[in-house]
Amino acid sequence: NRCKIIIALHSKKQHSEKISSEVVLKLCPSVYAVPVLYSFSAFFRIIEKNGGRAPLTYHQFQAIIASMDAPPQPEPAITLDTIANATTPQYEDHDDKYGVPTLEELGFETEGLKPLIWVRGETEALARLERHLERKAWVASFGRPKMTPQSLLARQTGLSPYLRFGCLSTRLFYYQLTDLYKKIKKACPPLSLYGQLLWREFFYCAATKNPNFDKMAGNPICVQISWDRNAEALAKWASGQTGFPWIDAIMTQLREEGWIHHLARHAVACFLTRGDLWISCEEGMKVFEELLLDADWSVNAGMWLSCSSFFQQFFHCYCPVKFGRKADPNGDYIRRYLPVLKVSGCTFDI
Ligand SMILES: Cc1cc2nc3c(=O)[nH]c(=O)nc-3n(C[C@H](O)[C@H](O)[C@H](O)COP(=O)(O)OP(=O)(O)OC[C@H]3O[C@@H](n4cnc5c(N)ncnc54)[C@H](O)[C@@H]3O)c2cc1C
Repeated sequence: NRCKIIIALHSKKQHSEKISSEVVLKLCPSVYAVPVLYSFSAFFRIIEKNGGRAPLTYHQFQAIIASMDAPPQPEPAITLDTIANATTPQYEDHDDKYGVPTLEELGFETEGLKPLIWVRGETEALARLERHLERKAWVASFGRPKMTPQSLLARQTGLSPYLRFGCLSTRLFYYQLTDLYKKIKKACPPLSLYGQLLWREFFYCAATKNPNFDKMAGNPICVQISWDRNAEALAKWASGQTGFPWIDAIMTQLREEGWIHHLARHAVACFLTRGDLWISCEEGMKVFEELLLDADWSVNAGMWLSCSSFFQQFFHCYCPVKFGRKADPNGDYIRRYLPVLKVSGCTFDI
């Protein structure tokens, strides 16, 4: 239940000043399940240092973080000693009363389901972290995610759903990354090493004290844009039926597997908004919220709002044909998710 409360705090409620980190700590004395690197009170300190407003550029945010102490160490793993060998009685009807319902009980069709890609739990998360860190080249040249046809698929090193739900402690990730860097480079890591982790914090901080963070109207950081309303086009985009194979393959992967690559997210977000359909990013946000396993209120809203808030100067548009052709030159990715296009020699030109 504590985990559920913490997760709830990470939805809109977290952004109320009333919920202090002390309350979070009371609810969850081992901050293990809180998926933030710093703390809610740190976000308020950052805002204070920035003249009372959340930093709206990542650069500003990094500059303030650089002047602050490193994030707290992760809590030690919980052992039987920690809980003093306490046990909880389990009654015969425990599962009937409190058990997690099966997919069938929830009314889902389970026949023909593909094997699980994202196995739940901390054990899996820790194994993934180990594999993630094994990619030493990644640590050494930690940079922007590059897209190859292979990286478009969910990998055994993917961490976002685990970080999102606190199965993996961001602090553990941070300090294991630090240790590894020091071992390889024999030097103290630059702040840029933690780029991806800090992006999460940037959005948490930006959403703090802004209850309209996931909206354009009433959101002081948003440029107001008169988006079109087009329910039919929106439904086609959401169900992978736009007629653009690259876009439809991405939306099908999202619907079937609950995860898509960072640049694939940009591709479909651009298509829905500034690039092609001119439909509000709020609509896209809702679809991602429903389908992404790593859906995280602050990060999702922040990324979707990019074209009307943080990056007003960000006019770049991804061509829904050219971008796909570059990322997936042989069309293997498209054929995988749109088997209807499994025609040999098909070049998917529109
Ligand atoms: C429109 C859009 C919506 C998005 N919505 C979400 C969301 O709801 N939840 C979410 O976790 N990420 C979201 N992202 C960010 C990013 O795409 C995913 O975090 C990343 O693809 C996860 O894959 P990974 O674990 O292999 O990441 P890696 O590249 O291995 O990064 C490690 C971790 O850092 C964090 N991270 C990486 N990139 C970002 C980023 N740009 N912003 C914030 N955190 C980042 C993630 O927790 C990730 O697991 C979104 C991006 C876009 C363009």
